[in-house]
Amino acid sequence: GQYLDRIEALNPQLNAIVTTDREKTLAEARAGDARIAAGDAHPLTGVPLLHKDLFCQQGWKTSCGSKMLDNFVSPYSAHVVEQCAAAGMVTLGRANMDEFAMGSSNENSFYGAVKNPWDAKAIPGGSSGGSAAAVAARLAPVATATDTGGSIRQPASHCGVTGIKPTYGVVSRYGMVAFASSLDQGGPIAQTAEDCALMLNVMAGFDERDSTSLERAREDYSRDLNQSLAGLKVGLPKEYFAAGLDADVARAVDNAVAELKKLGAEAVEIALPNTELSIPAYYVIAPAEASTNLSRYDGVRYGHRAKDYKDLVDMYEKTRAEGFGDEVKRRILVGSYVLSHGYYDAYYLKAQKIRRLIANDFKAAFQQCDVILGPVAPTPAFDLGQMASDPVQMYLSDVYTLSVNLAGLPGMSVPAGFAANGRPIGLQIIGNYFAEAKMLNVAHQFQ
Ligand code: GLN
Repeated sequence: GQYLDRIEALNPQLNAIVTTDREKTLAEARAGDARIAAGDAHPLTGVPLLHKDLFCQQGWKTSCGSKMLDNFVSPYSAHVVEQCAAAGMVTLGRANMDEFAMGSSNENSFYGAVKNPWDAKAIPGGSSGGSAAAVAARLAPVATATDTGGSIRQPASHCGVTGIKPTYGVVSRYGMVAFASSLDQGGPIAQTAEDCALMLNVMAGFDERDSTSLERAREDYSRDLNQSLAGLKVGLPKEYFAAGLDADVARAVDNAVAELKKLGAEAVEIALPNTELSIPAYYVIAPAEASTNLSRYDGVRYGHRAKDYKDLVDMYEKTRAEGFGDEVKRRILVGSYVLSHGYYDAYYLKAQKIRRLIANDFKAAFQQCDVILGPVAPTPAFDLGQMASDPVQMYLSDVYTLSVNLAGLPGMSVPAGFAANGRPIGLQIIGNYFAEAKMLNVAHQFQ
C-alpha cells in the first residue's frame, strides 16, 4: 500500500513505471501475509518488486516498451516471474524500458523517456532505466532487469543503485522477450549487494524450457558477503582508464580501488586489448540476432496489427512500420544487412571471431587476478536529448560494458560516488564465470 501511494505520487514525474494494478498487488500482498502467518514463508515473502516490462507475466500487460506489444496481455509467466511469485514476492507493477531493450538512455520507450531521480535533466541510463530509477527513488525496494549489452550495470551506475548481470545461462530466458538471445541475461537491481544476492537466489536456477539454461546445483549467493578481502587480487585493465574517460568517473574509480586496498586487496595492471572492438562486434551480433527475433512481430498472431491494408504483404509492412520505433527499425536494417548473402562473412562471421578474442582476453586476465575493476560508463549520466539524434555516439558510450556480455561473464555495478554535478557514478566489478558470490562479497565489503 505504502509503495503504491509513493508510486502514485512520484511516478508522474519519473515515468519509471508503465503499469500498476492496485487490486492485483493487494491480493498478492494478502497472500504473502497469509503465508507468513501460516509459517511457511520464504525470506522474501511479502517483499514488493517491479518487473521490467519484458518479463512475461500472466494477466499483466507485457509491452517491452513498444507500440508493437501495447495491446499484449501475457497468457503465461517467465521463469523469473514464476520464481519470484513462488517465493511470495509481491508485484508492484511493470518498469519502463527502452523499446525491445535497445538503448542506453531510456529515451526509446513508446511510453516516453524515464527521468533520473537525482536530476530531472539527466537520463537514467538504459535499457533498464525504469527499474533503476524506481529503485533509486524508493518506488520499490528491488526490481528485475536484463543486460544484453550493459542494461543492468549502466542504469544502476547512473541512478546510484546496485545491479548484477549473472554469468550467461544462470537465469532462465524463458518468457523474457528476446532481443539478442546469445547475450540476453536477467538479473536484479536493488539498493545493496546484499539485496542483489537475495534476489539472485530467487531468480537463478535451471529451467529446461531455456536451452541455454545451465544445469548447476543451487547456490546461496549471499554466502560470502562477509568474507575478508585480504589477499584479493583486483585487475585494472589499462584500456578502461585510457583517453575518453571523464575525470570525475576516473577519480571515483581510483578512490574505490584505494578503499579496497585498505580492505586488504592488491591491485594488478592487466590488459584487455580487444576492448574497443567490442563496440563493432556487439553492434553487428546484437542487431543480427534482433532482426531474426523480431521477425515474429508480423501482426498475425499477437501484438499490433495495422488497420487498413490491401493484402498480406501490405499488412506486414504497415504493421511493422507502425509498431516499431526508429531505433528498433535501425537495428533490424543493420541486422538483416550483416546476415545477408555476400555480407555474412565480412560482418557477422568477423564479429563472431572478435567475440572469441574478447573471451580469450578475459581468460588470460583471470590468470592474474580474482576480479576486474573499472568504470561502467565513460561519463556520468548525460542530459536527456543530448545523444538522441546521434545513435553512434550512444553506442560508443557502451565501451566498458559490452565485452562482458560477448564473453558471457558476470558483471555488476555498485555506487562509488558522485560527479561534481551531483550525478551518481558506479564502479564495475567483473568476475570470472560463476564468480557472482565473490563479486557480491567485494561489493558488500566496499559498501
Ligand atoms: N546499449 C545497449 C543496446 O542498445 C544495451 C542493450 C541491453 O543491454 N539491453 O543494445
